[in-house]
Amino acid sequence: MTDTTTGTHTGTAAQTSLTLLGLGDMGTALARTWLAAGHSLTVWNRTPAKAAAPASEGASVAPSAAAAVAANDLVVLCLLDDASVGSALDGIDLAGKDLVNLTTGTPAEARARAAWAEERGARYLDGGIMATPTMIGVPEAGGYVFYSGSHALFETCRAVLEVPAGARFVGGNPGHAALHDVALLSAMWGMFAGISHAYALIADEDIAPKDLAPLLSEWLGAMNFFVGNAAERLTSGDFTSGVVSNLAMQVVGSGTMLRTADEQGVSTELVAPYVDLLRRRLAADPAAHGGEDTTGAVLLLKR
Ligand code: NDP
Repeated sequence: MTDTTTGTHTGTAAQTSLTLLGLGDMGTALARTWLAAGHSLTVWNRTPAKAAAPASEGASVAPSAAAAVAANDLVVLCLLDDASVGSALDGIDLAGKDLVNLTTGTPAEARARAAWAEERGARYLDGGIMATPTMIGVPEAGGYVFYSGSHALFETCRAVLEVPAGARFVGGNPGHAALHDVALLSAMWGMFAGISHAYALIADEDIAPKDLAPLLSEWLGAMNFFVGNAAERLTSGDFTSGVVSNLAMQVVGSGTMLRTADEQGVSTELVAPYVDLLRRRLAADPAAHGGEDTTGAVLLLKR
């Protein structure tokens, strides 16, 4: 139930009644934290056996997704992908419901799902989980969830959303939680790729991965300055002021990186695409771009 004067769900923050659809690894972790915090939780999962664990911890198990949605106004979804959300909610009356969708999807999928929910009379909040299941309910692990969409809904259920992990609202555009999520994961992917390349380089040498590990960590930490630097340059449009590692030098240096990979018998497939971008940026106008840092690669990526 929603109190129409305050917009809050029935019960105190410590006793919210909510429904969770999806008891995979992530859904099960979420359920555990809400139950441990004393919330009244109704769960549903396509494969009923997975409801046994939350049931033993106090959850009510609904026999169908429709029954689970009918049980509470606040309905959290944590399913595999957007298609599974469509299939789980197909034909269910969502009028007056508050949907919080923690299922990973693209920004466009989130916007379409928000419009779909609103057409059916529901408020919609999209979430992008920046945590693994083992980080859920462990504040010191630093996990959190990006939220976007209905700010009123976010404020209404913020306290209960903050039980499993921190909550960061990133705007009214429902696609922005997914976009923040994927931007961070994409940067992480690039970092993982670079680390993989580094370990491949030493694979046949008398250098133990565990000896390279602390050096890699320290170096990546020191290079973290690029995050803020690039943001400032993209904002100001000034790619040259204060540059101490210029693009012309870096392009020559990248040749050393590629030749070293060759010497070590290592594929350049992870690093070559980035080197190509830097070369293209320089080649487009060596006089203008030679004194820049590497931020100009961003401009070449935009199609
Ligand atoms: P799991 O693979 O463990 O669970 C998937 C869940 O989706 C199960 O409950 C499954 O039901 C359900 N499901 C799949 N297809 C359908 C369908 N067609 N109709 C109804 N239900 C369906 O995944 P996780 O729990 O790990 O992940 C859930 C969401 O959380 C994903 O979007 C994922 O990207 C996101 N996430 C996960 C993280 C992680 O580290 N695990 C980290 C951050 C985000 P059934 O049991 O019947 O198969």
